[in-house]
Amino acid sequence: MLGSIEVGGTKINCAVGDEQGNIFKQVQFQTTSPNENMKQIIAFFLSNKVEAIGIACFGPVNIDRLSSQYGTILDTPKLAWRFFPFLQTLKEKLNIPIELQSDVNVAALGEASYGAGKNDRTVLYFTIGTGIGGGIVINKQFLNTPQHPEMGHITIIRDPSDAKDSDCPFHTDCFEGLASGPAIEKRFGPNAKNLPADHPAWEIIANYIGQGVYQMMLAYAPDRIIIGGGVMNQTHLLSNIKQNVIKKLNNYTYYPALTNLEKTITAPALGDNAGLIGGLIFAGQIKKGL
Ligand code: ADP
Ligand code: ZN
Repeated sequence: MLGSIEVGGTKINCAVGDEQGNIFKQVQFQTTSPNENMKQIIAFFLSNKVEAIGIACFGPVNIDRLSSQYGTILDTPKLAWRFFPFLQTLKEKLNIPIELQSDVNVAALGEASYGAGKNDRTVLYFTIGTGIGGGIVINKQFLNTPQHPEMGHITIIRDPSDAKDSDCPFHTDCFEGLASGPAIEKRFGPNAKNLPADHPAWEIIANYIGQGVYQMMLAYAPDRIIIGGGVMNQTHLLSNIKQNVIKKLNNYTYYPALTNLEKTITAPALGDNAGLIGGLIFAGQIKKGL
């Protein structure tokens, strides 16, 4: 039996399941304080014994296995969690192999294993939600980098009509600051869900997401790009994003996946379960010492 934990800013999900991504039992807690949440997580895994656990954690978080700070949450605006040694705390209490990765990387692993990228080698996964994050998995493995990529902070060229402030405290023109759910709401209307499909904001947002996807495609040459997250509930966005990528490519289709973007760029297949399923696959790798 394997364990999976998905640590989000508002909710924490824990599951037990198998290496094929089957979830047998699942619980959810509101994200409150490290003290309360760790008690809940530990109680769950003391009564549901597993051989290894894969954690998908919100960022920024130290994912460097060689660092003494591995598994510590970094400089987050969620003050109670700032510099909390999540992984170390759990390891001390549970005494089984446990590893931690960024939430988007683990979701990418879930989709690359049993979702929209299950037949693909290099899978890029974006979430366009409360934040924007990008994960990458090559041959069902994470990149062995000392920190997770921060694809949400790459620079975006603004639409000439868009002079509204960015929502990112660090960057005036970054992907997350211009196109995340809260950025859309701060800049175009109080509730992104209620912005009608023909609202001019969506043309601008599709252009921005298209730029972000295009840049990362050129950087990684993936077989598959998966775009999920709450904002993508605006289902009209996906085809508009593809049109923007096609326009940007301008026939520079230097490998086959770029000639068939209809197939290459897709919605997720695992829905809200990508992170938990990815955590189980991750736990299977941890158990085998990968
Ligand atoms: P999180 O990123 O916290 O995991 P989500 O991926 O669900 O959560 O993203 C939440 C964000 O998505 C919110 O900012 C919300 O405004 C936006 N969102 C959710 N549903 C829609 C929708 N139907 N249309 C546009 N934006 C949406
Ligand atoms: Zn930024």
